[in-house]
Amino acid sequence: MPELPEVETTRRGLAPHLEGHTITGVTLRRPDLRWPIPPEIRDLLPGQRVASVRRRAKYLLLDTQAGSALLHLGMSGSLRVLPASTPVKPHDHVDLVLDGRRVLRFTDPRRFGCLLWQPPGEIHELLRGLGPEPLSDQFDGDTLFALSRGRKAPVKTFLMDQAVVVGVGNIYAAEALFEAGISPLRAAGRVSRDRYALLAAAVKRILAYAIQRGGTTLRDFISPDGEPGYFELELSAYGRGGEPCPRCGRPLRQATIGQRATVWCGHCQK
Ligand code: ZN
Repeated sequence: MPELPEVETTRRGLAPHLEGHTITGVTLRRPDLRWPIPPEIRDLLPGQRVASVRRRAKYLLLDTQAGSALLHLGMSGSLRVLPASTPVKPHDHVDLVLDGRRVLRFTDPRRFGCLLWQPPGEIHELLRGLGPEPLSDQFDGDTLFALSRGRKAPVKTFLMDQAVVVGVGNIYAAEALFEAGISPLRAAGRVSRDRYALLAAAVKRILAYAIQRGGTTLRDFISPDGEPGYFELELSAYGRGGEPCPRCGRPLRQATIGQRATVWCGHCQK
């Protein structure tokens, strides 16, 4: 599944191909993905110039004067800029034609992604109530500490709550907790301010590193220049249950928290 670093990598790859360019046509090869595609997109987008390509959480927004196309890659989606003559394959569900010469092609075999519409001046309901971006100054240890007081849920579940901070998926939560030395099972309300400062710093460091490496865990993710955009993250904890802890050598423990597999070191993480 594309995580925040993959979506940000996609955004950075697409922006130079889209910003300042005009959408001259829209081809919808099916009426829906995860949700119905608003049919008015076919009338609203042609003739519009893409002012900016933004990311909020794991959503991409293509901003125009008429409004913003709101995209999510779901479990298996990818976006590529291709010559308009490129043959269409199965699962190529949407084309936005750019300057009549190229297309932004949205491919999504499992169709958990979406293409929706956000009118000018409005915020789509999917984007309301989201917490801060993890790489922004609004996200830090003090925020985590304040929000977590009185919370009994495990700190890992808390960290993955999109109302607390967006885009910290299972892999990144496990890695950040390992780096900060915090047990994923600990109640969120029982983590000190100092340790939340370490945790916020670890989240930022790990996500920034993954973005820098163009990282993704998605096998069939293709970056806009056609090269595979994924790499094997060098993970300390995630997916390594039973293996030796990289710090102390004791076997890493594994359990399910909030229906998600979790690996941690019972010695290094308290
Ligand atoms: Zn250890």
